[in-house]
Amino acid sequence: MGVSVKKWVYSFGTGKAEGDGEWKDLLGGKGAGLAEMTKIGLPVPAGFTISTEACDYFYKHNQKYPAELKKQLAAGVTRLQKTTRKKLGDPKNPLLVSVRSGSARSMPGMMETILNLGLNDRSVQGLAAATKNDRFAYDAYRRFVQMYSSVVMGLPKEDLEHRLRAMKTRLGVKDDTSVPASGWKELVAEYKAFFQQKTGSPFPDDPTEQLWGAIGAVFGSWMAEKAVTYRRVEKITGLLGTAVNVVQMVFGNTGENSGTGVCFTRDPSSGEEVFYGDYLSNAQGEDVVAGIRTPMPLREMANAMPKVYAQLEKVRVKLEEHYRDMQDMEFTVEDGKLYMLQTRTGKRTPAAAFRMAVDMANEKLISKEEAIQRLKPEDIERLFYPVIDAKIDRRSLESRVLSTGINAVPGAAVGKVVFSAQDAEAWAERGEKVILVRRETSPEDVGGMAVAQGILTATGGKTSHAAVVARGWGKCCIVGAEKLDIDYKSHRMSAAGKTVSEGEWITLDGGEGIVYTGEMPLVSPQLPKAYATLMKWADETRRLGVRTNADTPQDARKAREFGAEGIGLCRTEHMFFTDFEQPEKSHERQRAIQEMILADTKEARVEALDKLLPFQRRDFIGIFQAMDGFPVTIRLIDPPLHEFVPHDRAKQEELARDLNIDVNTVARRVEQLHEANPMLGHRGCRLSITYPEILEMQVRAIIEAAIECAGNKIKVLPEIMHPLTLDRKELQILEQGTRRVADDLIRRSGVKLPYLVGTMIELPRAALLADEIAEVAEFFSFGTNDLTQTTMGLSRDDSGRFLPDYVDEKKAGVFAADPFQSLDTKGVGLLMRWGIERGRSTRPKLKVGICGEHGGDAHSVKFCHRLGMDYVSASPFRVPIARLAAAQAVIEEKLEKQSKRK
Ligand code: PEP
Ligand code: MG
Repeated sequence: MGVSVKKWVYSFGTGKAEGDGEWKDLLGGKGAGLAEMTKIGLPVPAGFTISTEACDYFYKHNQKYPAELKKQLAAGVTRLQKTTRKKLGDPKNPLLVSVRSGSARSMPGMMETILNLGLNDRSVQGLAAATKNDRFAYDAYRRFVQMYSSVVMGLPKEDLEHRLRAMKTRLGVKDDTSVPASGWKELVAEYKAFFQQKTGSPFPDDPTEQLWGAIGAVFGSWMAEKAVTYRRVEKITGLLGTAVNVVQMVFGNTGENSGTGVCFTRDPSSGEEVFYGDYLSNAQGEDVVAGIRTPMPLREMANAMPKVYAQLEKVRVKLEEHYRDMQDMEFTVEDGKLYMLQTRTGKRTPAAAFRMAVDMANEKLISKEEAIQRLKPEDIERLFYPVIDAKIDRRSLESRVLSTGINAVPGAAVGKVVFSAQDAEAWAERGEKVILVRRETSPEDVGGMAVAQGILTATGGKTSHAAVVARGWGKCCIVGAEKLDIDYKSHRMSAAGKTVSEGEWITLDGGEGIVYTGEMPLVSPQLPKAYATLMKWADETRRLGVRTNADTPQDARKAREFGAEGIGLCRTEHMFFTDFEQPEKSHERQRAIQEMILADTKEARVEALDKLLPFQRRDFIGIFQAMDGFPVTIRLIDPPLHEFVPHDRAKQEELARDLNIDVNTVARRVEQLHEANPMLGHRGCRLSITYPEILEMQVRAIIEAAIECAGNKIKVLPEIMHPLTLDRKELQILEQGTRRVADDLIRRSGVKLPYLVGTMIELPRAALLADEIAEVAEFFSFGTNDLTQTTMGLSRDDSGRFLPDYVDEKKAGVFAADPFQSLDTKGVGLLMRWGIERGRSTRPKLKVGICGEHGGDAHSVKFCHRLGMDYVSASPFRVPIARLAAAQAVIEEKLEKQSKRK
C-alpha cells in the first residue's frame, strides 16, 4: 500500500454508501442522512458528499481547496455518471445534479442550494429530447441560470425576478406554468446577458466549471453574515464547516404523475403520532418552499397516487424506527417513482418536543433517559413565555426593527413606551400596558419595572440590575441596546433612523433581543400534559437540589409551582423599596431606608431601622410560609448605599421635605456616598461591618419571622448568608454578630429553631482561602455574577458594550458564550473547584450551592453537578430548566463512564 491519501469525497448510490449515518460531523446532516437512507435500502438518487473537513481546510488555507480534491471530485463525477448512465453536459443524455450545503446541525434557510447544474445550450436540448418536453427543459435551464447567478455570483435576486415578471407581462401570462418554452428560452438569454454585463465574463457553459463555482458558493455561505449570526443565536459551536452534497437531479415537475413534498413522521406542532406533511403535484421542491403554489395536505396524496403513498408510509415507519426520532423528510416523485431526497431529525414546537419524548418512551422506541436527553433548555423556556405570533409576516417584522440588544429574558412583550419608573406606575395604574425604557435601571426603579410588560435598557449585560430583576419575575427584558439613543428630556428614543415617542407602542422579542416598533400580536403557549410526566422523570433522575432566587412571597410561591425545593437566594434589599403585597406602603419603606442612610448617629440609624423591621419581618413570614419544609437562604444587605438615595435635585427636595431636613444635607450625604468604583467599594458585608445595626435589624426580622412561623406549625429552615466576604476574620465578626442576636431571640422564645450561618463566595480571595472561611461558614453559595466580574475584571454592568464582540465568532470570538450567562468553567470554574475542595477539607459536610444567574443556565448547572455541589438556585421561571439540566448531567456522566469502560 502506498501513502494513504486523505479522503474528501464520499459516494452513495444503488444501495451502497461510503459514508455512514453516524458521520454527521464529517458529512453534515444531509450527507449522513443520504448515505444512511441508501444503506437501509430506501430509494435515494445517487451522488456524493464533499466532507466538512474540506470546508475546514478551505478556511484554514486562505480559501484554497485541498490538492487532492480535484482528482477525487472527478472520480466522484465519473462514478456518478456510471451509476446513472448519464453524463454531465451530454447533448443527448445529460446528467443534471443539485448542489446543496449541509452541516452537522441543521441551519434552515441559512445556506445555499443550486439545482439543475450541468445545463448549457447543448445539454438542454438533450434534456428536452429525453423528456420529450421542451417547456420543462428550458424552465429547468432558466432556474439553473437564475440560481447560479444569484447564489454563486451574488447578482441581486430582485433584478432577476424583475426580468421574469417583465417577460410574463410581455407574453400576457400570469402563472409560471403557462410560460411556453420560447419564453423560458428568451429569459435564459436575458439572464446570460445580464450576467455578462454585471460580471464581465460569459455565463459558464462547462459543467465542471459550474460545479466548482457551486462548491465555492456553498463553502462561502458557511461564513455569510446570516449563517454566522444563526450559529451564534442557536449557540452552535465547534463545527468544522458545511459539507457539499452533489446529487443526481430527479424531477417532480415532469407532469401530473410527478410531484414533490415535505413530510414529518409525527405532527411537528402538536407532537401527535400522525403522518403529517404537504404535497404538490407537478412541481419542484423549491415551489413548495417558496410558497408560490399552495400545497395540499399529504393525506390527499393517498387518493392521487395510492401506490406511491403506500410506499411513502412504509418509508415513514422504517425511518422513524431506524432513527428513533421524528424525521422531517423531503421526497420527489418522478413519473410515479418515489425518491427520498433528505431525512433529518425534525424541528418541533416545544410542546411537541415534550409530547414526542414521552410518547416515544411509552412506545419503548426510546428509554426514559433518552427522553430526558431529548429536551433542550429552550424547549422549557419557550413553553412558558408568550411569543410573537408566528403567523405575522416575516418581512413586515424586518421592516419594523428599531434596535437589537442582549436577550436577557425571553418571551415577548407589547406596550406603550415610558421612560421613567414613576410614569410606568402611573400609566399602569390607569390600566395602560407599558414598556419601561431606561438607559439603565437601579433598585429605585423596581416598582415601575414590576408593573411594566417588559423592560428595555440601552446599557448593561445579562447580569445587570434590569436583567437580574426581570429574570426573577420571568418578565421579558432586553438590555444593552447600545444603538438606542434615549432622550429623557424630550421623552423620545431613536435608532435605525426611527424615532419612538412616549406613549407609542413597541414590541420586545426577549428571546431574540429585538425591539420592534408597533403593537404585535402575542400568543401564549399551553403546557402540554407530557411536561409533568417528563419533569417527574427528571426529578427521579437528578442528584442536585434545585432552589430558587426569590425576594417576595409571590415569587416564592410561583417558584414552588415550578418545582423549587427551597430558596437559594433572597435578596433583601428589594424589600427596602417595594411592598409587593401592600404597594401603598412602598413609599414608607423607601423613606425608612433613606432615613437610615442619611442619619449621622447610630441612634438615629437604629430608629430608622426599627421602622423597616416590621416590613422585613412580614416579607419573611410570607416567604417561610411559601417554602414550608424547605430551606430559605436569606442574604443580608448587599448594594452600595448610594443606590437607595435619589440623585436628582427634585427628588432630593421631596425627600428632605418628608424627613424634615435641609435639602443641602441630603445632597451632601448623597455626594459623600459617591464612589469611583462602587462595585468594589462599600457594599456587601462591608456594610454590616461598619453598620452592625443593619445586620442586627435584619437578623432580628428573620429570626422573629421564623419563630412566629414555627409557632404556627410551619417548618422553617433559615440560612443567613453574608455577601462578598473575603476573609475568615471578617466572616467571624459577622457570624458572631448574627448568632448573638439570633440565639438571644431563640432562647427567649423557647422554640427550637435550627438555623445556619454561611457566606457567598463572590471574590477570588474568598475562593482561594475557602479552607479558612469554611471554618466559620456552615455553607457556601457561589455568587457567580460577582465572582465572574471580579475574576475576569469585567464589569457586569458595562461589559455589554464590548462583550458581544468577544463572543462573536466573526469578530474576536474569544469566548464561546457570554461568561455572565454561561459559566466560564475554565477560569471562574477553576476557582469554584478549588473553593469547594478547600472548603470541604476543613468542613467535610459543607453545604455548597450557586446562586448567580448561572444557576439557571443548563450548561453551568451540569458543571455544578460535576463539581459535587449540593444544589443550584435559579430564578423561578428557570427552575424547570435547572431540574432538567441536573437530570441530564446524571445521564451524561453515566454515558461517559460507560464509554470509558468500553
Ligand atoms: C452574585 O453576585 O452572583 C449574586 C448572586 O449576587 P448579586 O447578583 O445580587 O450581586
Ligand atoms: Mg453578588
